[in-house]
Amino acid sequence: MGGEAKEQLVIRGLHVAVEGQEILKGVDLTIGRGEVHALMGPNGSGKSTLGYAIMGHPSYEVTAGTIHLVAADGGRRDLLAMEPDERARAGVFLAFQRPMSIPGVRLADFLRHAVTNVRNPDRKEGEELMPMKEFRGELKAKMAELSMDPEFSRRYVNDGFSGGEMKRAEILQLAMLRPKFAILDETDSGLDADAVRLASESIARIGGAEMGILVITHHEQLLEHNVPLQTHVMLGGRIVESGGPELAAELHKRGYERIRSAYPEAAAVERAMQDEKRAAAEPTAV
Ligand code: ADP
Ligand code: MG
Repeated sequence: MGGEAKEQLVIRGLHVAVEGQEILKGVDLTIGRGEVHALMGPNGSGKSTLGYAIMGHPSYEVTAGTIHLVAADGGRRDLLAMEPDERARAGVFLAFQRPMSIPGVRLADFLRHAVTNVRNPDRKEGEELMPMKEFRGELKAKMAELSMDPEFSRRYVNDGFSGGEMKRAEILQLAMLRPKFAILDETDSGLDADAVRLASESIARIGGAEMGILVITHHEQLLEHNVPLQTHVMLGGRIVESGGPELAAELHKRGYERIRSAYPEAAAVERAMQDEKRAAAEPTAV
């Protein structure tokens, strides 16, 4: 180990059920601030479920296990005891794989609320927002840094955004909120190669030594400027293998067949989960 103590996001034995079906079956993961971790795995293995569970989405029921923020001095905060907004104020951020649109709410207004809340964790709804001038200045600077058109922030949140625009809006949120821990769920999906490169650079610049980042991705490109300390592979609701950046490269190149044959039990769970899903879908199938 070595090095000085730093704040960590610590997940132990996490089980999560969605609509009564167990999806995560015992996940252990520790992310320190300043570290990048990559999370890979076939579709349906539970990667997004882990993100939602960390953030506290009400549809994702934690049935066992713990999630703590552990401070450098050893102080622990139980994330599972907090509402999603408290988790955000505690410095945890999830960039959604499929962000929601909020017609009628401009991105700039949305960000001003979010930034105010995260920076004043004790603020009550209705209390004053961050001063407009200060906010505008900061937003403008961040958008310039990210090569974004300032007009973009006048649009309604994700309303009619292209896939790429949604992802860029998530990165802008990341830049403005500067969380301690960020989960980026397929922030590269729907982006062309140049946009992924820009996203990768932006995330590296925003993250730096301060942020712990979990990058959920199928590709290597997003990791180009965010070389992971560890790459984790999820299969059948468990992290079955962890390695270095070379593991991400291998999976990107060769896919998950080696993983499936190396971990037959998890592969069987994967098949069972797919069968269950198919069976559940059957009555409405044509
Ligand atoms: P990944 O992100 O690795 O592709 P997900 O976490 O999205 O995997 O999904 C894992 C499993 O959980 C899938 O079988 C999926 O259908 C199911 N699942 C996830 N979220 C929901 C939900 N909100 N409602 C029903 N099933 C869900
Ligand atoms: Mg997903």
